[in-house]
Amino acid sequence: MHNRTTTPPPASCPIWCTQQHTASHPDHTRDVGMWDLGRSTIEAFLHQAAGHDRAPVVRVMFGPDWAPAEVLDVPVEMAAKLGDVIRLLSIRTYSEFGQALTRAAALAGKESAR
Ligand SMILES: [Zn+2]
Repeated sequence: MHNRTTTPPPASCPIWCTQQHTASHPDHTRDVGMWDLGRSTIEAFLHQAAGHDRAPVVRVMFGPDWAPAEVLDVPVEMAAKLGDVIRLLSIRTYSEFGQALTRAAALAGKESAR
């Protein structure tokens, strides 16, 4: 839904876009979820840079106290598969899976530093 009084985006909107475009907010965006976890917040959007031929991504913003300082852009196909994996996990294995991802990334970083 677009407000006719705002600036139109440089390219036509994808059907999923709910952004009211302005000159300072030209990108296509749709909120897909927000979680207040007490000491931290996670927000997820479908996002696509306007005026570029880039594919849309699932943008995850997270951080403490409603100040999501970290941004993670996940290609949509990867996001769908990661969602499938996460839905298989229990509360206990969910944390273990997160730790495994962090550990794998740390191992790869050490490997590339050699
Ligand atoms: Zn749009």
